[in-house]
Amino acid sequence: MREFDLIARIRERVASRGDVVLGIGDDAALLQVPDGMQLVVAMDTLNDGVHFPIGTAPGDIGWKALAVNLSDLAAMGAHPAWCTLSLSLPTPDRAWVDGFLDGFFALASEHDVALVGGDTTHGPLSVCVTAHGLVEPGRALRRDGARVGDDIWITGNVGDAAAALSLLQRSERVPDPLRARLDRPMPRIATGRALHGLAHACIDVSDGVLADLGHVCAASGVGARIDVDALPASEALCALSLDAGTRRQWQAAGGDDYELCFTTDPARRSELDATLSRLGVDASRIGVVVANPGIVAHDADGSAWQPSATGYVHFSD
Ligand code: ADP
Ligand code: MG
Repeated sequence: MREFDLIARIRERVASRGDVVLGIGDDAALLQVPDGMQLVVAMDTLNDGVHFPIGTAPGDIGWKALAVNLSDLAAMGAHPAWCTLSLSLPTPDRAWVDGFLDGFFALASEHDVALVGGDTTHGPLSVCVTAHGLVEPGRALRRDGARVGDDIWITGNVGDAAAALSLLQRSERVPDPLRARLDRPMPRIATGRALHGLAHACIDVSDGVLADLGHVCAASGVGARIDVDALPASEALCALSLDAGTRRQWQAAGGDDYELCFTTDPARRSELDATLSRLGVDASRIGVVVANPGIVAHDADGSAWQPSATGYVHFSD
């Protein structure tokens, strides 16, 4: 398939939105930002063998490329609106592209996100998406608002994707629910929207709870004390009957969870509970914000706990 056939194939499948004045086909897209709204922009790249295991199904790559970007918008409390897609492909294989687009558009349509442009090149398999969202002024959730005494919360559960990746790397069987968490993360858009007025700070967990909570603490000029045994684990993770050390490592430092980690005033606990139950979302209180910089982790018995690594870092030695 040639570049223009490929672009035509993408264009055929794009769903429109009223605020897309001009989508794919010109030199650039024209988008109508509603009066009084702020534009929120995020970009994330997925490289073959780095951000997804080599051999990942094309539909899962398509889903994940958009999901990790929508997760960033969720963490900002934004409504997703538009996206662009840069595709670098070693071979322009029709079946691969169709599969990729199936996954990509399945998630795009769930959140009414319009693909409005992109770029297509020949090279190693790499997918870069920018996601554009909208937020009311003053309503964005940021990393720099955590206050001493805040409770620290995490949505859903963590550690599944790290478990899947680790089992895969050891050529062991990966239970389906764990593999699904690695391949098809679910961006917490509705939760991010609902945390307005409740969360003082928020981040999505892509590089591991400790690493990402560390960013919140650094931006807010505070520290955190967390209970690693309060990190929520899925049934599928528990069913692996792991030793506590491995489970804690995957849950605290694994990454690829795409849950929201946020801080709230403990006095607003009942409002938070009501908001989460209205959304049908579980969240767990994993610790508190303290004045001393850095993150101190302990286990359920109160003994100090240290990870063997804190999360994925590109360009680390
Ligand atoms: P230009 O040479 O002006 O940059 P291109 O030939 O790269 O234009 O792209 C033509 C049109 O197709 C543009 O509107 C561009 O945004 C769109 N496009 C190209 N690749 C993709 C892609 N992978 N996904 C979505 N739109 C794309
Ligand atoms: Mg041009």
